[in-house]
Amino acid sequence: MQLSELGEFSLIEHFRTKCADTSPEILKGIGDDAAAIEIPGGTILVTSDMMLEGVHFDFSYSTFYQLGCKILAVNISDIFAMGGKPEYFLLSLGIPEAYTSKNIEELYSGLVKVAGKYRVKVIGGDTCSSKHGLVLSGTLIGNADRIITRSGAGIGDGVFVTGTLGDSAMGLMLLKKLGRQIHFEGRGTRDKGRKIRLKDHSLPITPKLLPLIKRHLMPEPIPLEKTSGITSMIDLSDGLLIDLSHICDESKVGAVIYKDRIPVSRELVKAAVNSGVDPVSLALKGGEDYVLLFTSPSEIKTDSVRIGEIIKKGRFLVDSEGRKTTFKAEGYEHFK
Ligand code: ADP
Ligand code: MG
Repeated sequence: MQLSELGEFSLIEHFRTKCADTSPEILKGIGDDAAAIEIPGGTILVTSDMMLEGVHFDFSYSTFYQLGCKILAVNISDIFAMGGKPEYFLLSLGIPEAYTSKNIEELYSGLVKVAGKYRVKVIGGDTCSSKHGLVLSGTLIGNADRIITRSGAGIGDGVFVTGTLGDSAMGLMLLKKLGRQIHFEGRGTRDKGRKIRLKDHSLPITPKLLPLIKRHLMPEPIPLEKTSGITSMIDLSDGLLIDLSHICDESKVGAVIYKDRIPVSRELVKAAVNSGVDPVSLALKGGEDYVLLFTSPSEIKTDSVRIGEIIKKGRFLVDSEGRKTTFKAEGYEHFK
């Protein structure tokens, strides 16, 4: 069967059946944001995320510095999604021979910057030459007192998100229209103050819209301060509809989401209207938000927004007029 018929998630299900290794200390193997292994005195978390040139990024709009920031940030997001603390990072690289040592130094400057911010220690990796673009593969080790998996959502729980959705997808659209890199780092802050014009000169991007682009290039995951009472959690990497579907699948429940409660930024609404796209659709399916989606039976006293509820069966979206439609796991899936 072609991989395009199967898709990434069915492929992962295949790995999960094939490598159904069980052992009392493996609290979570394949099927969550990170694996969890119990050791004397605590729980170790391990996660791995890759970024490939031409698939996840393109040097016409990403810098090496930004890639170094992002490869660690996306791994940190997975550890936060388990309720854990990130600790040790390994970065493996496949580098095309045409790239320079300065390029890789820039990449490491970004990596070190994010590592410092989150107090992550870079402890290893691997380096090879690549025939087909730059390959980044990150492995992050963390720990947790109590892990929060995708499988604990209960009927009646509220569904919450910790930040605005859709910004990153809009940022990527803007970057593609612009067709050039934007520097947020070091001396490159020159982009901050000036009016940037799109390649086709049809629409200006004002500095006010730069946070959308920054969200895409350099996501900054934020952990939940307190996880007591939280029944399930996932980070939003593939889009709300896909990631919520993972919680529903693993917890064997349904969900209803109220579209008008989904937090969207003012910048997203402005840019989406300018570009003729629906901001809510980007918030539902855009992906790469790297905020947390979690469920809890009680109200949460944080900045999180309650966007829906867990129900027994079915997956529904409700619009501002109360019209109910079913939803499928649409968003970003490799091979599809
Ligand atoms: P995320 O989007 O949070 O990074 P993924 O969808 O990539 O999560 O992965 C979901 C689960 O599948 C994780 O437990 C991950 O370790 C596992 N997984 C992904 N790819 C493979 C693989 N090639 N072999 C074994 N397990 C895998
Ligand atoms: Mg994840």
